[in-house]
Amino acid sequence: MSHGTLYIVSAPSGAGKTSLVRALLAQLDGIQVSVSHTTRMMRPGEVDGLNYHFVDVATFERMVERGDFFEYAQVFDNYYGTSRPAVQALLAAGQDVILEIDWQGARQVREQMPDAVSVFVLPPSREALHERLSRRGTDDAATIDRRMRDAISEMSHFDEYEHVIVNDDFDAARNQLVGLVLAERSRLERVRDRQGPLIQALLSRVEGVE
Ligand code: 5GP
Repeated sequence: MSHGTLYIVSAPSGAGKTSLVRALLAQLDGIQVSVSHTTRMMRPGEVDGLNYHFVDVATFERMVERGDFFEYAQVFDNYYGTSRPAVQALLAAGQDVILEIDWQGARQVREQMPDAVSVFVLPPSREALHERLSRRGTDDAATIDRRMRDAISEMSHFDEYEHVIVNDDFDAARNQLVGLVLAERSRLERVRDRQGPLIQALLSRVEGVE
C-alpha cells in the first residue's frame, strides 16, 4: 500500500519555522501538518483544533497512559504531544505529514521511524533571533533572556538532523524546504511505493520487443 513520508521540522522559537511550513503547504499538495496536543494556554489568535488541541494536564496524562502519543515531551513549562492514530491515518492515506516538534520529540520519532526526514531551521544570526524574540513588545528583559536561553538550548541539537536550513532570506529558505520535499518524493523507494501501477504498465513486455 502506498504511504506518505514523515517530516520532522524543529527550530528555536523565533527562527520562522511556522511561516516556512505555512509557505510550503501553500505551494505543495499532498502534505499536511499534524496538529499537536498541548497543555499550554491558548495565545490570542490561536484556534483550538487548528493550531493545537488544547487540553488540561489530567487529559494529557490520561492520553500518555493510554499510549495515544507517537511522541510527547515537556518543552519548557508545558507538555506537547503528537497523536499516534491521527498521524498513522494521514500516512496510510498517502499524505506526507509534517511534525513541528522539539528535539526531544524528534529523537522519539527517529527511533520508531528511522526513515522520517528531519530538518532543523536556524535563524541567520544571534541578533536577528534576539530581535524576533523581543518583538512581542510587552515582555520584560528577564522574559526575553529566558526565551534566548531556551532558543540556544534547542539550537544546540541542530546536528541531530539530516537537513539544516538557515532562514536568512525567506524565499530562499522556503525554496530549500520545498526542494527537499520534492527531492524526497523522487527517491526510488518512494516512487516504487507510490507509482506501482504506472511502473508495471511501463515495463510490461510488448510482443516482438526485447
Ligand atoms: P509553542 O508553545 O511556541 O507553540 O511551541 C513551543 C515548542 O514546542 C516548539 O519548539 C515546538 O516545536 C514544540 N512542540 C510543538 N508541538 C509539539 C509536539 O507535539 N511534540 C513535541 N515534542 N514538541 C512540540
